[in-house]
Amino acid sequence: MSLHPDLTGRVALVTGASRGIGKAIALVLAEAGAAVVVNYHSRTTQAQAVVDAIRGSGGRAIACAADVADSGAVAAMVRQVEAEFGPIDVLVNNAGIGIARGLDDLSEADFDRTIAVNLKSAFLCTQAVLPGMRARRWGRIVNITSGAARGSGIVGVHYNASKAGMEGLTRGYSTRVAKEGITVNAVAPSLIETDMIGDNRQERAARVPLGRLGTPEEVAQATLMVISNAYMTGQTIQVNGGMHFI
Ligand code: NAP
Repeated sequence: MSLHPDLTGRVALVTGASRGIGKAIALVLAEAGAAVVVNYHSRTTQAQAVVDAIRGSGGRAIACAADVADSGAVAAMVRQVEAEFGPIDVLVNNAGIGIARGLDDLSEADFDRTIAVNLKSAFLCTQAVLPGMRARRWGRIVNITSGAARGSGIVGVHYNASKAGMEGLTRGYSTRVAKEGITVNAVAPSLIETDMIGDNRQERAARVPLGRLGTPEEVAQATLMVISNAYMTGQTIQVNGGMHFI
């Protein structure tokens, strides 16, 4: 068994891959040989730059704009990917938003949008790719959750609920498809250096036992690890600089 994953011939869809953690995951999956779909919401130039980087290294990639909270857009995206690359073998549900709100300023609209983009999206994308994975008896699904699924975090209760829901999806799907060669795991980052982390970076880094923010590449490494491992399913891997010890 090679310890270096070989995803040659596999097709991977990474949602929210125009920047941050999703971009780093798209790049490592391409490096491992997968043809990669770089999904994004509105930043076309950044998504195309990720595609260009992959193609520049000899890989295969396409950019695909779709609001993953919208079932029609997800269905159209999956149809486009299947037409261009074939069926999807690896799905990374990474797209997410973190609308920071305190208890007093959290609106119903903030709650609904957060649940739709962070949680319903993972359901929609999983449902769209699962029939193909089940037919081929091979698949890898990774949900990018957060330390906020279990801790209080810094964004708000709506975000806590969306990420805890993703962990529920992870465990629920994993047991139902385990016999069909499909693994479903979660990777739970905390305080990673991306646009989402916002300002006050030094103050945030001081909360981490390791004394710094994590990098998107460190989250991508853990994601590749769970994709490579056929015996690991239903798990949540924390990538958090030791924050669960405090
Ligand atoms: P980011 O830098 O803000 O990037 C978010 C990505 O999601 C972008 O590619 C964005 O596309 C895409 N996106 C947002 N809404 C979308 C939608 N409705 N449909 C399709 N794509 C959408 O975020 P990040 O820090 O890399 O976070 C990635 C994931 O990790 C998220 O699920 C986040 O909750 C989770 N996470 C992050 C941290 C952290 O410290 N950074 C910690 C824990 C968990 P556009 O570029 O087109 O806007």
